[in-house]
Amino acid sequence: MNLLAQTEIPQVVEQTAIGLDKSLATIAYVAAAVLFIFSLGGLSHQESARRGNLFGIAGMVLAILATVWGYMQGGYLMAIAAMLPAILLGAIMAARVPMTGMPEMVALLHSFVGIAAVLVGISSYLDDGAHVGVPRGVVHLLEVYIGVFIGAITFTGSIIAFLKLRGTVGGKPLLLPARHALNLIMLMACIVIGAWFVGAESPDGGMVPLLTMLVIASLLGVHLVMAIGGADMPVVVSMLNSYSGWAASAAGFMLKNHLLIVTGALVGSSGAILSYIMCAAMNRSFLSVILGGFGGGSGKSTSEVDGTITECSVDDVVDLLWEANSVVIVPGYGMAVAQAQHSLADVVKILRDLGKQVRFAIHPVAGRLPGHMNVLLAEANVPYDIVLEMDEINDDFPRTDVVLVIGANDIVNPAAEEDPRSPIAGMPVLEVWKARTVVVIKRGMATGYAGVENPLFFKENTRMLFGDAKAMVDSILAKLRLRTGS
Ligand code: NDP
Repeated sequence: MNLLAQTEIPQVVEQTAIGLDKSLATIAYVAAAVLFIFSLGGLSHQESARRGNLFGIAGMVLAILATVWGYMQGGYLMAIAAMLPAILLGAIMAARVPMTGMPEMVALLHSFVGIAAVLVGISSYLDDGAHVGVPRGVVHLLEVYIGVFIGAITFTGSIIAFLKLRGTVGGKPLLLPARHALNLIMLMACIVIGAWFVGAESPDGGMVPLLTMLVIASLLGVHLVMAIGGADMPVVVSMLNSYSGWAASAAGFMLKNHLLIVTGALVGSSGAILSYIMCAAMNRSFLSVILGGFGGGSGKSTSEVDGTITECSVDDVVDLLWEANSVVIVPGYGMAVAQAQHSLADVVKILRDLGKQVRFAIHPVAGRLPGHMNVLLAEANVPYDIVLEMDEINDDFPRTDVVLVIGANDIVNPAAEEDPRSPIAGMPVLEVWKARTVVVIKRGMATGYAGVENPLFFKENTRMLFGDAKAMVDSILAKLRLRTGS
């Protein structure tokens, strides 16, 4: 009796300690979930975006510590061995990536979430096999199946998006004949194979349908994203963001980790809302985007434009700015590539000091990332109150003296409104051609991401200043400084 008591006491103490650790971990999980919600809230405005990021980082650190401390019993070395290289790799990638490479990196990171969900699903299923004789619930099997399905689509879809954004795979949509029927057949096949999987007698028997579905879902991911053309890529990026959230959530169900379920759902739903906003911005229905077939190939013309262009010099642009009372600047992808935002901010300061009204017009899909231009302008300390969204400024162009289009193309293409056969027909654009004079700064006559010719360059009131955006803005800045003696 005494002997029994002696051995039981440490066990009770140990169990209480584990119980306490778990309760604390649960509290930490709730705190982390709240931090993630604050983070999303912060990221919705540029003034609070930095704070939002800090909340996100704090939430993630708390989540990792709580998981390791509260839920793991041993295996710490293994956890560190898995986490350290990932932390190092993530830090190096983030430090090295140029702003223009961010969409590719985001797509690559989405693919990691996808493959993680696939691996968690397969290992969770194999783990069930270790407990032979223990009945496996249908709900758990469905969790595994759906998790692997979403994970596989997210993984291969994100890899294709990564390659497209990088330019390794062309932006032209791959339009196979009967592609919708093909998607439907693959989806139906996955559902039928799912019934086979759930009904399998043993884990060994279940692996065959699971892996068969994995192959089909991977092909579906490739096909879905290959069918989407250049100009629709913003929606693809946000849609894969949403998928990666649902994949993480599915992994949370399989691992019985509540925080992962909540976090995945937050990412999944915010990505879905972002996709909706992007679709609305481009006047597209979500369904038509994900089913693909919009937008021409990047860098190739889909329609010819006749006419002559009017070139101008840096001096001409300085003269125009000098005379103007109101100036609107439209930045695009080329400004990001050239990193012209800092010089541009100095030009804006001089013009404002001269008493001119200067504002920025931001198109929702300018650049290669949602909010791309806002981030760059914030980095250059451009005041937030002169940075306006498309809807806020589009009606003001007829009352604007000079519009400076810097490295933008698709977002100022009048073909979207004037040519119903254009691949970008219906996409709302900044109506810069309605201003008195438009100056377009770009290196040559190349098309934008959607691969569509731009009639703006041939309009009577348009002046083309050819050259690198940074070099041109630097020259404008130097001449303005000379004139003002600043
Ligand atoms: P575009 O890609 O339409 O045009 C950019 C223009 O910048 C090019 O025509 C190029 O012409 C010029 N350019 C490139 N480098 C330089 C440089 N160093 N100096 C000066 N000009 C340069 O960009 P927009 O911002 O107008 O439109 C964004 C496009 O990207 C849309 O089609 C959108 O759908 C797509 N997209 C957007 C994403 C997002 O989330 N925002 C994600 C993925 C795609 P040239 O070579 O002649 O200089």
